Amino acid sequence: LHVETQLGEGVAVPIDGNPAHYLISVMRVKPDDIVLLFDGRSGEWAARARDIRKRDLVLECVQQTKSPEHVPDFWLCCAPIKKGRIDLIAEKACELGVARLQPVLTRRAVVDKLNLDRLHSHLVEAAEQCGRTALPDLADMLKLDALLKGWSLDRHLFFADETGGAPLEATLRAHPGPAAFLVGPEGGFDPAERDAIRATPGAVPVSLGPRILRAETAAIAATSAWMAINGD
Ligand code: SAM
Repeated sequence: LHVETQLGEGVAVPIDGNPAHYLISVMRVKPDDIVLLFDGRSGEWAARARDIRKRDLVLECVQQTKSPEHVPDFWLCCAPIKKGRIDLIAEKACELGVARLQPVLTRRAVVDKLNLDRLHSHLVEAAEQCGRTALPDLADMLKLDALLKGWSLDRHLFFADETGGAPLEATLRAHPGPAAFLVGPEGGFDPAERDAIRATPGAVPVSLGPRILRAETAAIAATSAWMAINGD
């Protein structure tokens, strides 16, 4: 179960609302039962149930069961796209192990606002499902120019360019180390944006193959490919 409270030896975490309903009425948790908790940064903790009432209970951390996990240093930078599709990206990015999900506003994006709370809950659900205890960092949306301007040479910026780029696997293998993938919106990048990305130090245009993939397919394929080579 994900909680916002920072976990540690002896920390008592009050639980109410839906998680309490789930534990008390669905899982029928009894006093002294153990529930596994994570806060997204402190690994996993076994917590003992106490003070169980009708609608709330307390979970007290007794032992760390997983150390904070290693997360591969990979960011997924993607343009906002329609609701269900960006939700899919968040879910799969979390399962595949990304360290940061960075929304990037581009000129042809058909969506210019994102509900970060909703995306955060998708990340939490995916983490619970896949057993990940370190949540991806969900960054505030940046305009493409701001992202490019602040780009540091310490991180490769692989640019998923549907108009053509270097072959994926060989390019990833030739550029080990911290990386990010930049994927465009439904309408793609406009020519000026493409030029600006290509001119950014550290940017490496890559192709994901001869077919035009949907933005969410491109984001998932790019992340899977990078993780297959560098993720551990
Ligand atoms: N509107 C564009 C078109 O029709 O040419 C397609 C944009 S595509 C749906 C969305 C994004 O996915 C692109 O901006 C690009 O970042 C990525 N993408 C899709 N197919 C790709 C490919 N074969 N190689 C590299 N990137 C791709």
